[in-house]
Amino acid sequence: MRIDVLSIFPDYLQPLDLSLIGRARRTGLLQVHTHDLRDWTHDRQRTVDDTPYGGGAGMVMRPEPWGEALDEVCRATESDQLPHLIVPGPGGTPFTQAIAHTLAGEPWLVFACGRYEGIDERVVQEYTDRMPVSVLSLGDYVLGGGEVAALAMIEAIVRLVPGVIGNADSLVEESHTGGLLEYPVYTKPPVWRGQEVPAVLRSGDHGAIADWRRQQRLERTAARRPDLATAADGLQVDAALHDLDGLQVQLAVPADAGEILTLSRACWLQEGRDHESFAIPALTDDLDQARSDLSSWRTWVVRADGRLIGSVRARQVGALWDIGRLMVAPDLQGRGLGRALLEFAEAAAPDDLTGYTLITGARSAGNLRMYRRAGYRITERSDYHGVPTVGLHKPRRSDPTI
Ligand code: SAM
Repeated sequence: MRIDVLSIFPDYLQPLDLSLIGRARRTGLLQVHTHDLRDWTHDRQRTVDDTPYGGGAGMVMRPEPWGEALDEVCRATESDQLPHLIVPGPGGTPFTQAIAHTLAGEPWLVFACGRYEGIDERVVQEYTDRMPVSVLSLGDYVLGGGEVAALAMIEAIVRLVPGVIGNADSLVEESHTGGLLEYPVYTKPPVWRGQEVPAVLRSGDHGAIADWRRQQRLERTAARRPDLATAADGLQVDAALHDLDGLQVQLAVPADAGEILTLSRACWLQEGRDHESFAIPALTDDLDQARSDLSSWRTWVVRADGRLIGSVRARQVGALWDIGRLMVAPDLQGRGLGRALLEFAEAAAPDDLTGYTLITGARSAGNLRMYRRAGYRITERSDYHGVPTVGLHKPRRSDPTI
């Protein structure tokens, strides 16, 4: 991997010589180049900023030095490769472990570290037309410059690059992997200041240790990060799906879109055959649609040992909870996972809704059987691009109108 960082304080980036990143550089896994933005100025004062149009406090970074610097640093390599440009900013997409994983697969990243009130907006626009550009925020607070954000992101990304961490297993159950925080960890001595290491960890019973750790991850996440809805999700679904080892249910993130699309195609193929038409959205959607659906629906994915094996999504429509794209990998169907996911999606409905609704193909006998057993009744028949469909409804048990 190659990383370039542009800043008016290149000395700020000296930690990139230390520890894990320093070692990755020395072993050749990583090349890092830092650049002083002022090298692309042409006046004696090496000016990079000016007053903001429209007035207001502070100064804004001028586009010209950024343009010249980025043109030179991001010049395509012999293999026509262009970098992914990362612009740290408090108004960006929150940087997460999932994004770190995605970026760890990129061969070349360029970080543009702003200062003052930020960089003239036209710079991001200019490069968005030429290469992948991401404006990423380290968190909901304002730093003085992008250098600390770049250092944090680079460290999170680089440690995921294969070979950088000696024991790759240590990445598997970390905080924010699978949407959960890590379990508590202990080392010797067994008793310290009267506090004992939990007995199960010294029992040698690997099954019991794995169970204890998973439970700790769920409880710790629910207690410390209730915003990570996955913690509660994990607790509920765990009970229903205990027969599938290593199962994880998480809220889908943008990086899941490709896999969800692939699984949809595999799952809806039979529906296409049954209806003698492949004009079914789950088969015709493209990646852009899959990505945009993730922002308009609440989508969950189920993974077993890392593999995406199921998914469901839901959203509020009036007083109803609209459930859709319930899917289970074809080789794992018939084990109760679809029914458990349906119950799971129902349980996620806001309290004030009166019922659930969904649509399926009129000839999807298996689906219709499952929905009927789950309490759904057909309320309407319709036609989607020549494919007959049915709308189903299930009242919530507390619905006073029933
Ligand atoms: N006026 C800007 C605003 O309110 O969005 C804040 C500019 S900040 C003082 C200067 C620079 O610090 C930004 O251009 C960005 O490079 C960096 N920065 C500040 N907070 C950040 C955060 N939470 N995440 C990433 N970068 C940040």
